[in-house]
This record gives sequence, structure tokens and C-alpha cells, in this order.
Amino acid sequence: MNDQINDTPYKIAIIGAGPSGFYVVDALLKLNIPLEIFMFEKLPTPYGLLRGGVAPDHFKMKNLESYFEKIAYKSQSFHFIGNCEIEKDVKIGAIRRYVDATFITTGANHSRDLNIPGENLKNSHTAASFVAWYNGHPDFVNESFDLSGKSAVIIGQGNVALDIARILAKTPDELSNSEIPESILNKLKKSNIQTIHIVGRRGPAQSKFTPNEFNEFSHLKNAKVIVDPNDLNIEKSVIDYLTTSNTKKNLKNIELLKNYSLEINNKTSPKTKTINIHFHLSPIEFKGIEKIDSIEFSVNQMTGPASDRKAVLTSKKETISTNIVFRSIGYLGSKIDTIPFDEKKGIIPNTLGRVTNSHNKAEKGLYVAGWIKRGPSGVIGSNKRCASESVNAFSEDLNKLTRSKNRGLEQFIASTIKQKVTFNDWKKLDLHEKREGSKKGKPREKFISVQNMLKFLEII
Ligand code: NAP
Repeated sequence: MNDQINDTPYKIAIIGAGPSGFYVVDALLKLNIPLEIFMFEKLPTPYGLLRGGVAPDHFKMKNLESYFEKIAYKSQSFHFIGNCEIEKDVKIGAIRRYVDATFITTGANHSRDLNIPGENLKNSHTAASFVAWYNGHPDFVNESFDLSGKSAVIIGQGNVALDIARILAKTPDELSNSEIPESILNKLKKSNIQTIHIVGRRGPAQSKFTPNEFNEFSHLKNAKVIVDPNDLNIEKSVIDYLTTSNTKKNLKNIELLKNYSLEINNKTSPKTKTINIHFHLSPIEFKGIEKIDSIEFSVNQMTGPASDRKAVLTSKKETISTNIVFRSIGYLGSKIDTIPFDEKKGIIPNTLGRVTNSHNKAEKGLYVAGWIKRGPSGVIGSNKRCASESVNAFSEDLNKLTRSKNRGLEQFIASTIKQKVTFNDWKKLDLHEKREGSKKGKPREKFISVQNMLKFLEII
């Protein structure tokens, strides 16, 4: 019996069809061992954050879809099971009984909280919800964002904050060839937002955004960047540190900020929208009744060594008026029942991708990759190395794995998941979206409702 089991391909479950999930498949296939891979995804569509998080006007990045598609078609042993929500449609414990190893690649889809008064007022939104909304994520398309006011504040200075600012700053014409679904685009076109504030708690030398993304502001047709030149007087010790350290990103950011601050002295610019970059401010209260009308900030002092400058709140205050707020201060993963979870970090605890329990011992046959493994950092491509590390751990464990004696995962899936979407089904949706998009000069016109996807596929 054991010999029979050992002769069968390794059955692998992957939970989550985002970039990390596909990088795990890629790395697994490179092991050149017999495999049967089952990838479970909540939505009928694959690619996770690439489809629902990467900015709809970042076309080059979106092209990674074709790379992941090649991975999916590389092997007959790859099975996509879309429209299957773990814990709701099927328990992870049930899947694990049929497979030899499980990789969790569910990402981090919740925004962190600021934990300040007024955070839950009506016009205070998470970056996660706004980004998912303009990307046409079915779970978010019915969210409502009141863009009728003139001013928006974005808290946080990562690349997500820049994405939000750019989408708010673009003219209808600039947005029209993006992947933003038509119904959402029509709402964005009616936006009255003229003044966008991006507020960071530390200084230009510590800003999290990257130069390429920051430089995109310089190409905006009707928006100019405003920077207070006083913010650009950076201590020599910090500049020395940046110059000698490996990362030159912040020096480049400072150079771009200086260029923007010089440009603004050229008062002839006809651009009417402004993107105001503020430093050294921490929000301490969102003020207003029902809706936020202003934000009170503490003016921060910087302390600590040049390599690790920290913001410390002072008694000095500053106020910015606003009509809408986006909290863009990073993401957290979600807990899956029965799987260990670090609530504080929002990740699944692990050692080199092996999931560890409360005694710091590796859980047999359970691995993790991507943002749910290491937290929300890096670009999409960073997940490739992260996935390889986890697959490497699996490969080292091969001789120690307890092989599942349960056959019939396919039958179990067929009987449990009644409205399963296969990869070929997804391709039908994909082709239809691209065909509809090309009529409008866009890469695709997305389905934004799961019901409509299933109807189109004649699954319901
Ligand atoms: P992020 O890069 O970690 O930036 C989070 C921002 O929030 C930082 O400015 C951080 O300030 C600030 N923050 C955190 N806690 C705060 C608090 N309590 N009060 C005030 N400010 C607070 O996160 P992200 O923008 O969500 O991006 C996530 C990852 O996706 C990043 O690796 C990013 O580069 C990547 N991404 C890449 C692209 C692209 O390549 N085009 C696009 C989008 C996202 P501190 O620095 O002081 O902590």
C-alpha cells in the first residue's frame, strides 16, 4: 500500500491564485517531480492583487498576467478551482486530508488601522477598499466614495498612496484607456477633487514610495506637485548615510522633490489640480460630525540614528481641511480557521516558508508564501524569490512528508464546489473582457460581478 502511495504524484493544494500562488506553481514545476497541483481561489478570476490591486494604468505590470498564464498551461497537472471560498465553500482541513502539502498564498488584503478618534467617520476610507473599487473587484464595486468635495487627504507615503493620488489627479481623458471598469470610470469622471494631500509621518529621506512611481506625477496633464522647500533641508548625517548605504532610492526621491519644488516657483503652470506632499505629520484626530471636515496632525520631530530615524509626536499641531480621507498605511493578512496566525503582524508565522505553531514547531505539510508569509512589502516580482524559498523548504521535506492515503480529491471537489470555475472558463472570461475592452480602446472591460461571470459561463 505504501509503495503504491509513494508511486503516485505528490498532491499539492495552493490556497489563493495571486502572484505568489503562481510563483509557487512555477517553482514546484521546476522540481521535476511527479505532481498534481490544485489551486483554490475565492473569485472566478485568477491573479489576485495583479488584477485587483496593481494600478489600472500600470499596463506594463499588468502584462505579468501572460507570464502567469504560461505557468498555468505548462503542465496538465495544474487545476484551477475558482469561485471557491476557503472556509465558506470548503474547509481547509478537508482539503488537507486529500493532499500531501498545502501552500497558503492568500496575501494581505486588509488595511491597517490608525486607532485614532474619528477613524470610522463616513468619509474615511481604507486604501484597500478604494483601490479594489477602482480595479472593479466584485466585493468592492458597490462601495461608495463621495468625490463631490474639493479636497482629499491620503495618510501614508507608500506606493499605494501615490497610486490613489494619481488616479484622483488624472483627467477623464487620461483615465479612459486604463482598466478601470466603465461604471467606476463614470463616477471618477464626475470627481470634483482639486487638491490632494499626501501626508507622511517621517521625512523625505525616509519616504517609502519609489522614484519611478513618484516621477509619474511629472507627466500628469492637469496636476502639479507642491512641496515645501523647508522640508528639503535634510541633515548632513542622513544624507551621508543615504549616500553610503546600498539603497539610493531616497536620494533619488529627494532629487525629484527638489525638482518639483523648483517647478512650482514657475507660477505660469496652467495646471489646476495640486498634489501637496507633506512631511513630519502624524494624524491624531479626524474631526467632524458624521463626516470628517478636517484632520488634526501632530508636527513630528525625528530621532534616532540616521539609518533608523523615527517620528516622535510633539505638542505642536497642524490642521488640514478635507472632504474625504484615504488611510494608506499598509496591509494586514486575514486569519484562516485552524491555521496559526500572528494577529499583530497580520501574517502566518513561519520559518523559511514552513508554517510554525505556537511552540515554534513546523506544521507537517503546511507552507506559506507571499505577503501572508512576510508581510506587505516589495513589488510583485519580490514574490518569486519568496515562493522559491518556500518550495525549497517543501523539497527538503519530501522524504519526511506523510503521504495522504485519501484518493478522490477531484470527486470531492466536484461534489462540494457546485459552481467551480476552471482555468479554461477563466480564459473565456478573459477573452470576452479583452474583446469588449478593445471596442473602447482599453486593455479590457472587466466583469465586475461574480453573478455575471457565472451567467456568461452558463454555470448558473
Ligand atoms: P508601505 O510602502 O509600507 O507604506 C506605508 C506608509 O504608511 C508609510 O509611509 C508609513 O510610514 C505609513 N504609516 C504606517 N503606519 C502609520 C501610522 N500609524 N501613522 C501614519 N503613517 C503610517 O505600504 P503600501 O503603500 O501599502 O505598499 C505596500 C507594498 O506594495 C510596498 O512594498 C509597495 O512598494 C508595494 N507597491 C508597489 C507599487 C509599484 O511598484 N508600483 C504600487 C503599489 C504598492 P513609515 O515609513 O514611517 O512607516
